[in-house]
Amino acid sequence: LNPNDRKYVVLSIFGFITLLFLGKLFSIQVIEDEWKLKSAHLTESARDIYPARGIVYDRHNRVIVDNVAAFDLMVIPRQVKDFDTLALADLTGLTKEEIIKKLDKAKRYSRYKASEFIAQLKGDEYIKISENLSEFPGFFARTRTLRKYPHHSASHILGHIGEVNQKKIESDSYYKSGDYIGTSGIERSYEKDLRGKRGIEFVLIDVHNNVKGKYSNGDFDTVATNGLDLQSTIDIELQKYGELLMQNKRGSIVAIEPATGEVLCLVNSPSYDPNLLVGRVRSQNFRALSQDTLKPLFNRALQASQYPPGSTFKLIQALVGLEEGTVTPDTYHSCRGGYYFGRRRLGCHGHKSPLSMNYSISTSCNAYYCNVFKDILDAYPSTEDGYRAWRDHVAKFGLGQKLGIDIPGEKAGLLPKPDYYDRYYKKGGWKPHTIISLAIGQGELGVTPLQMANFTSILANRGWYIRPHLVKRVNGNALPDSLLQRNYTDISPQHYVPVIEGMYSVIEEGTGRGVRFSEDIEVCGKTGTAQNPFGKDHSIFIAFAPKDDPKIAVAVYVENVGFGSTWAAPINSLIIEKYLTGTTNRERVEKKMLDANLMHN
Ligand SMILES: [Zn+2]
Repeated sequence: LNPNDRKYVVLSIFGFITLLFLGKLFSIQVIEDEWKLKSAHLTESARDIYPARGIVYDRHNRVIVDNVAAFDLMVIPRQVKDFDTLALADLTGLTKEEIIKKLDKAKRYSRYKASEFIAQLKGDEYIKISENLSEFPGFFARTRTLRKYPHHSASHILGHIGEVNQKKIESDSYYKSGDYIGTSGIERSYEKDLRGKRGIEFVLIDVHNNVKGKYSNGDFDTVATNGLDLQSTIDIELQKYGELLMQNKRGSIVAIEPATGEVLCLVNSPSYDPNLLVGRVRSQNFRALSQDTLKPLFNRALQASQYPPGSTFKLIQALVGLEEGTVTPDTYHSCRGGYYFGRRRLGCHGHKSPLSMNYSISTSCNAYYCNVFKDILDAYPSTEDGYRAWRDHVAKFGLGQKLGIDIPGEKAGLLPKPDYYDRYYKKGGWKPHTIISLAIGQGELGVTPLQMANFTSILANRGWYIRPHLVKRVNGNALPDSLLQRNYTDISPQHYVPVIEGMYSVIEEGTGRGVRFSEDIEVCGKTGTAQNPFGKDHSIFIAFAPKDDPKIAVAVYVENVGFGSTWAAPINSLIIEKYLTGTTNRERVEKKMLDANLMHN
């Protein structure tokens, strides 16, 4: 090649490379723009599909938590064209100013992404809007479901759902703004089972704002999966009956099936209709309920941990004494109007003396149990050693600890450790008489109604319990065995025999004889009256039946109404009767309980 030709070749190569670059540059620009358009289109046409939450059934397969259809009116700001603000105001019931404000808020969130314009419209509210939606480009409806509680009951068990908060969105990638989440009760603890899985679809929309089909044949869509159904352990009819009996009273009823740990009812009073916390009225009603001085949101059954167990605790005292060998069923103690220590007296009521264990239970003698408690502690080298041994036995009855029920908020109550008393009286400075009120279930003991029902269950089972629970099946599957283990006390089974005979005597001839309801069904019970330093005593009654094949164990706590035999015992026996026989045959007793208004106490 001559030099001239060489110059040509070099120039051609340069030219070729330049062309290549230009070509590449062009293609990058065009393709990227195309992609931008495509992704913008995807964003705008994306519609979340919300699954229906799982349904909750009671133990007899009656629906207790259901779903109803609801609609959110959504808006994509970029697609909004000039529209008749007044017409939209007329349709939605919003003011013109509210519409402008909501639209501004949506724009600030994103111009391409859909945001909620009006949430949780009920079917009839939505129909009117949907007929005219084509006049408002950029607006569309999203289908949701709302909870419905057909029995208007069991609010503290079922709990409720609310919009997920920012903190949760940041910590859990499943959730995004506008999602609902269980915030209490079963709705919260079984959230992952109940919520299902959100889906997404990409739609084609025409100029009239109508969906014309799927974008890209649905290639980008994911289906929504409905939540799993649950079966609760609750008997909703028993629950409703309990709520009726507790109307105009403060307190709680907890009933457990002893063989399984299944909670049959868990009643709190005052309470509220769970439907109040659904939909657009939720936040307004929640505010009103939380400001109510009667505290209807308070879950007494799980959280009233200041309740002393009162005389119902004498049953545990007897069992610990029997196990420690410091008392036998034939041990007699005398009671002359109470228990005397130093110059003080812990009073009792009039009854025969001296008395055996059986009679001490049926008549609920205070002096007898002061002796039992003191003898247990005195059998050890020091009060502290004795107390430690005593406390270990008592803790096995599930006191002073959370039982692990499957809804949130449970409190542990109080079963003091030795150092609790060291702080008040210094180490070695406390003797049996310092803490003698523990003998009769007073003093520092704090027990929730759930714990009371659970230890009644232990008595029914003669020495064990299964963790109380409110859900028995998830998606048709029974709970794993690991959740249904028996927890044993360290009291030998034979010691339960005289104590249960004592509980039987309570109903047959003792403090609970007013509540016998059947010749055929043997009921075992125990009254309690818990002293209340702030007012009238609390009325307590625990019972299980039938004696030899227990199907139900019940604890009833009624605040500020006096003796256990007056209110808690009849209410307890009505619950047992209703559960075992399907009905109640004591009109007079039932009417008295239903009519009683004890709120003023
Ligand atoms: Zn006595």
